[in-house]
Amino acid sequence: LHTARTIIFSNYGAPKEVLQVLKHKLPEPGLGEATLKLIAAPINPSDINQIEGTYASKPEFSKRFGSSDAVAVPGNEGVFEVIGLGEPQTGIDRETNSKDVVNTSLNTLEVGDWVIPKKASFGTWTTFKNAKISDLISLGKPNGLTPLQAATIAVNPLTAYRMLKDFAKLEKGDWFIQNGSNSGVGRMAIQLAKLWGIKSINVVRDRRDIDELKQELHDLGADHVLTEEQVADRSIKTVISDWTNGAMCKLALNCVGGRSSTNIAKQLTDQGVIVTYGGMSKQPVGIPTSLYIFKDIHSRGFWVTKWKNNNPEEFEQMIQKVASMFRAKELEVTAINTVEFQNLENAPSEEFLSLFKSSIAKSGKYVIVA
Ligand code: NDP
Repeated sequence: LHTARTIIFSNYGAPKEVLQVLKHKLPEPGLGEATLKLIAAPINPSDINQIEGTYASKPEFSKRFGSSDAVAVPGNEGVFEVIGLGEPQTGIDRETNSKDVVNTSLNTLEVGDWVIPKKASFGTWTTFKNAKISDLISLGKPNGLTPLQAATIAVNPLTAYRMLKDFAKLEKGDWFIQNGSNSGVGRMAIQLAKLWGIKSINVVRDRRDIDELKQELHDLGADHVLTEEQVADRSIKTVISDWTNGAMCKLALNCVGGRSSTNIAKQLTDQGVIVTYGGMSKQPVGIPTSLYIFKDIHSRGFWVTKWKNNNPEEFEQMIQKVASMFRAKELEVTAINTVEFQNLENAPSEEFLSLFKSSIAKSGKYVIVA
């Protein structure tokens, strides 16, 4: 039996105040279950919002692991290794009507396979857990996939992929603009656009090492990188018009809101689309009336969790597709800080908790790697 360390919270609030850790013995996996060992789990903005209680999808609170209160386990994304399998799930064979037939679709996992959760709110911030096989997507054996890639496969690459495909008909040579370009999603959008021959204008916040960041994004495939101040300048429209041969951008991806969203919306062509998928500035999206009247621009929203729930089969196909892009080195996960947690079985529980708490307190994106 494994001893698991699981991060929990019983009330919504600031992560540094509400997060705790529980040490508990993991039972043997039940019927149709797998025992999973953590490989890596990221800390995404949505995880923080979920702990704060401001995220649309809520985790399940229940009494577990010997807790006296109902507790939830944070962590929407992550990759685990299958280290044990329970008895196969049996069912009724529809053709022969006989009972206790092994339902093969639920029993396709092998020990050593890497798996990710099918749905959000899985509770990935734990060293070990038992899960229903039907709640997992298998990535098979790693075969060149890294823990970082696998742990972050289900949210950022998919979000960028779907937003570039589903809102505007972007042909080779067409342009899109985005803010928050330094984010995980932004960096994926840069790489995918480059692969597909789509041109990108990327807005980032100014900083001391701005030239280095610009170079890094260019190296990933960005055509142009502008600071928020540069894109706010009135003269930028002529510059962008020159870059795009007068075509302007068909699509704007917005994860910031406020003035930043106004400035990227202004670079859209007639009937261009701005897709809002995040609100990092915590300011409302600001789109000038004139853009609606004179350009008939469209303002849409995207939430990958909803997309996955509405398109479960396509979601699994997309995961396999992105995994093969990682394996083929067409896509890379960059600018993520990794924090290692060693000795999963014996390290003090508080150490596991403090890795999450201290990573949340820092700026930048962190992935806990076991
Ligand atoms: P990362 O942690 O990788 O990046 C966060 C980004 O936000 C950085 O580029 C950072 O810029 C920027 N940022 C932070 N604070 C502010 C601020 N006050 N004003 C402007 N920019 C700011 O995040 P992810 O790629 O995981 O997520 C990016 C956004 O996308 C988040 O809002 C997230 O919630 C959203 N998202 C939405 C999804 C959906 O389905 N709708 C799915 C995935 C993500 P800097 O480099 O300057 O610090």
